[in-house]
Amino acid sequence: MIAWGDTLRSGGRKPELAERLTKIPAYLFAELDAMKNEKIKEGVDVIDFGVGDPDLPTPKPIVEVMKRAVEKVENQKYPSYEGMESFREAASRFYKRRKGVKISPDDIIALIGSKEGIAHLPLAYVDRGSVVLCPDPGYPVYPSCTVLAGGKPYFMMLKKENGFLPDIDAIPEDIAKKAKIMFLNYPNNPTAAVASKEFIKQAVDFCIDNGIVLAHDAAYSEITFGVKAESFLSYGYENVIEFNSLSKTYNMTGWRIGYAAGDPDVVKALLKVKTNIDSGVFQAIQEAGAFAMDECDEWIDRNIAVYENRAERLVSGLKEIGLNAKKPKATFYVWCEIPENYTSMEFARTLLNKAGIVVTPGIGFGEGGEGFVRFALTRDTKTIDRAIERLKDAGICF
Ligand SMILES: *Cc1c(COP(=O)(O)O)cnc(C)c1O
Repeated sequence: MIAWGDTLRSGGRKPELAERLTKIPAYLFAELDAMKNEKIKEGVDVIDFGVGDPDLPTPKPIVEVMKRAVEKVENQKYPSYEGMESFREAASRFYKRRKGVKISPDDIIALIGSKEGIAHLPLAYVDRGSVVLCPDPGYPVYPSCTVLAGGKPYFMMLKKENGFLPDIDAIPEDIAKKAKIMFLNYPNNPTAAVASKEFIKQAVDFCIDNGIVLAHDAAYSEITFGVKAESFLSYGYENVIEFNSLSKTYNMTGWRIGYAAGDPDVVKALLKVKTNIDSGVFQAIQEAGAFAMDECDEWIDRNIAVYENRAERLVSGLKEIGLNAKKPKATFYVWCEIPENYTSMEFARTLLNKAGIVVTPGIGFGEGGEGFVRFALTRDTKTIDRAIERLKDAGICF
């Protein structure tokens, strides 16, 4: 018998990491994660508002379609790169019905979750030194995929006084010249803001004038409370690509299914990158996804009602302890301003130590997130009530 420990070499020369990887900032939540795990070990019943992953299950009928689709031999083969025609047609119908936008199924491609498409887009447009406009605070994937492609993020600040919309007029001319992509995300994670029509028009015009791809991340497009989140594609098709996802809409984060739609040149460029990296989305998942988009509108309404109820409970509780919390217009997040004498990290640490409650410090979404923490509404109302009780019992009041 071979004793592996004796035969395997070790202690040799280590390969050096690529510069691009070392430039991606360290995981900011590592410290908080460690503290959370420590509390759990101590036996504290930690209430976690940090997770942006729905707690509710995928609607049963979608799971049933999936079960049948797995059995089909044709679904066990390599899928097409662009996605099944039936899936792309369902996405087209979904846009028509829910957003009032006509999109040809030819201008839609399936994605292995929208994150996959977002992360691969810069490979199609970014050269060394190219600039990508990224919102701050924002989804950390935008700057990191920019860096992986050799580009430089330029951060557009989302300020409360501007309704968490970036000031497009403030983008310097030389930056606009070097910019290849502008990432935007409305309804917005983490600020829960919704974009106005005027803003969308301004962003579309700016990108067309400057030869920039406007990449709109619409992951929360359906989770809105009494307002409509408009598709950016209803204001411009040229240069615009919109990413959509079934993850948040139908509680399907684990399934990995989304799609991109818009300017055929941009969609084709992304597809060319993807053709060289992945081999499409498992067809059974596409079948289930097409069914979801065609048949599950009432499940979206149920989801909205659940999140709205939770948002109201949490916000009124946070107000009772003296925080300036506002009910979100959309998404399943409460973006809560914190008192001035705390950093967002200190504030998160205090809630964890004194009340066993986990929130995400705003700084984790970029410097522009300082002064806020994010509560994810992925816990039921009982748990929310319990969290508020605990904050009161711990004497936390601002
Ligand atoms: C959850 C989320 C996504 C990713 O969704 P997937 O389709 O599951 O990859 C994209 N953007 C934002 C802002 C998100 O919060």
